Amino acid sequence: MLTTGPRGTRDILPDSSGYWQYVEQVIRQVCRNFAYQEIRTPVFEHTELFLRGIGETTDIVEKEMYTFNDRGKRSITLRPENTAAVVRSYLEHKLYAGPQPVKLFYIGPMFRYDRPQAGRYRQFHQFGIEALGAKGPAIDAEIISLAVDFLNRLGLSDLRLLINSVGCPECRPVYRTKLQDFFREKLPHLCPDCQSRYDRNPMRILDCKNENCAEHSQGAPHMAECLCDECNSHFSGLKDLLTAAGINFELNPRLVRGLDYYTKTAFEIQYAPLGAQSAVCGGGRYDGLVAECGGQPTPGIGFAVGIERVLLALEKQALLPVLTNSIDAFIAPLAEATQAKAFEIVTELRKAGFTADMDFMNRSLKAQMKYANKYPARFVVLIGEDELRQNKVMLKNMETGNQELIDKTSLIHMITEGMEK
Ligand code: ATP
Ligand code: MG
Repeated sequence: MLTTGPRGTRDILPDSSGYWQYVEQVIRQVCRNFAYQEIRTPVFEHTELFLRGIGETTDIVEKEMYTFNDRGKRSITLRPENTAAVVRSYLEHKLYAGPQPVKLFYIGPMFRYDRPQAGRYRQFHQFGIEALGAKGPAIDAEIISLAVDFLNRLGLSDLRLLINSVGCPECRPVYRTKLQDFFREKLPHLCPDCQSRYDRNPMRILDCKNENCAEHSQGAPHMAECLCDECNSHFSGLKDLLTAAGINFELNPRLVRGLDYYTKTAFEIQYAPLGAQSAVCGGGRYDGLVAECGGQPTPGIGFAVGIERVLLALEKQALLPVLTNSIDAFIAPLAEATQAKAFEIVTELRKAGFTADMDFMNRSLKAQMKYANKYPARFVVLIGEDELRQNKVMLKNMETGNQELIDKTSLIHMITEGMEK
């Protein structure tokens, strides 16, 4: 127990944290480029927020939340996603009173009691976008193009963008009835989850992962046939914008959410080589969510990307960057008596802006050189007792193998010059 983390959690170790920094850096660049600003909300919220903001008939709320009472007997939940929390923060800090639309991004850990497997964890990380306040399809196109651009910048191609419209509270009841008519006779053949979805949320039968249910939903009516005029024109507006921007998409009528506050656009980006966990990004419009959380009716749209899945995809395609741990200088005290001098020098070099390290293990010269080569270090500064007495150091250029005895006072100058070569 003490030497193993909880199931579904992972440590990001020093040999791979550089990959995370790389992906996060691309996220920050893309978001800056598209003028989205970062928001950081707490990792836990009142449970009530997620019951409202995600919906009681979703898998997340029914089976996946980490919920507990804190010592003050308040029900707390580790965030399983971040849209509800961003909306809470938007209302709490009256972001609606500032310039519109409010364009936000976040990066951080999420928690779901999922069944752990490759690309599916209990603590995982999402990069997400939320745009609040704009109702036309242009912002939908913008965030979809941001997601695609992000994945392209990482070098991922062969992506499938699936889009659908889930309508609005005006047109969805018609569709709901049509769906119930379609599934009525098939009901005994569906899984227990779908049987309970039939009354509560029949659209969700369409995205059931059970193969048998998927077969039974072949031929089900499409939302597209039932869209009201407004939803229809929003959807065709989005398709036109994507086409104009040269973004390929496929229509997928099975992409559904089915809660009242999810409206119009729903989309997903898949990366097929990931197999069962091929969804790298899921998003959609939620024009009813802000009101559901107690604010004025406000349109909104967002998406979330699973960072672990993106990293898996990059690994599969050999697109991960080469990580280097190289340093400018390694200071090698050759006797215990010279360690203080080594510490003085490493401190000076760091202050001057160099990346520098020193030996802390009282190793032999040979072992120190081997260690310095592992980084690798561009220069090694050797200090023996003779050098200490003369206030000199031996500067070794590890690329050329040249070494020269120099005054300690000219060390920074010599390294600067050497670095420029
Ligand atoms: P799935 O159907 O795969 O469970 P989801 O519908 O639950 O996905 P969303 O809530 O839309 O997923 O989350 C957006 C993205 O977050 C997903 O496309 C995926 O990349 C990632 N994601 C979701 N759950 C996990 C998890 N347990 N582990 C790792 N990544 C996840
Ligand atoms: Mg899930």
